[in-house]
Amino acid sequence: MDKISFDGKRLDQMISCQLGDGKSVNFWKDVWFGSSPLCVRWPVLFSMDRDKNITVSNRLKQVGMSTVIKDNWNLGVTSVEGISEVQDVEYMLSCAHISDNSDIWVWDQKPGVRFSVAAVKTSLRGVRGGQSALRMRWVNWVPIKVNVLVWRIEQDRLPTRVELAKRRIVLPSTICPMCGIEEESVSHVFVSCGFAFGVWSKVWRWCRLFPDDFGSTVDMLGWQNLVPNIGRDRKLVRAIIMVTCWSIWKERNKVVFQNSVPQVVGVVALVKSMSYLWIKYRSNNIRIDWNDWVKYPLYKM
Ligand SMILES: [Zn+2]
Repeated sequence: MDKISFDGKRLDQMISCQLGDGKSVNFWKDVWFGSSPLCVRWPVLFSMDRDKNITVSNRLKQVGMSTVIKDNWNLGVTSVEGISEVQDVEYMLSCAHISDNSDIWVWDQKPGVRFSVAAVKTSLRGVRGGQSALRMRWVNWVPIKVNVLVWRIEQDRLPTRVELAKRRIVLPSTICPMCGIEEESVSHVFVSCGFAFGVWSKVWRWCRLFPDDFGSTVDMLGWQNLVPNIGRDRKLVRAIIMVTCWSIWKERNKVVFQNSVPQVVGVVALVKSMSYLWIKYRSNNIRIDWNDWVKYPLYKM
């Protein structure tokens, strides 16, 4: 079962839990908070824990409206990574809620879809037959993780605050952490957020392309298909759009989990450097030079 994967995720990570009393949930190894097991999310804390098979109910308890950790978990860490993980524990505590109900196992984080063989089969059909419906084709010039992220954006399947709230995860707020103005839906993060707008404006100026404002993520991800006469640039533009989405989401997670201050300039620099590295080493027949690339990425086409 460990070897079976589903759009880049191991099968056992597709099965997640809507937390009830936490008695049937392995704190570290099951997916019950966020989209991966906590042993992956918090490797430092996991490595220090003596009880790697502890259940959620033996680790957390509900005190009135607050979820708190029980005394048996020693969070004394000194490394930077460890401290940032402890901050994320605080965030988890602000989201998690232990109730008297039984835990519910769900498939692929879809609310209401309980884990069953039928649900798995339906998803398998979706993965095999669904590819052609996507405007964003897979691009081998960027890593699989970037392709998967973009696929999830197009499917509205990223754990933004609005999506988490839809899954009945209790959050202090559903407002976007980047602009602090609107609700954090998937399309807000990548299209209508002022922060994303700042990033895209600079990326488009760098590419010397000037699309109109996009109404949705689907418009944005399909845009390069509508530009006439760009030939091989089309794949390059697509790759740059994908890397930009990945960089925005990475910055968003830094803001949420590490309390960093969002920086447009830093994200744009990341887009330029990562797209350069990935395309240079992953495309067989394009020789690109950093000094030219950083001025205008379409110069070779
Ligand atoms: Zn925003």
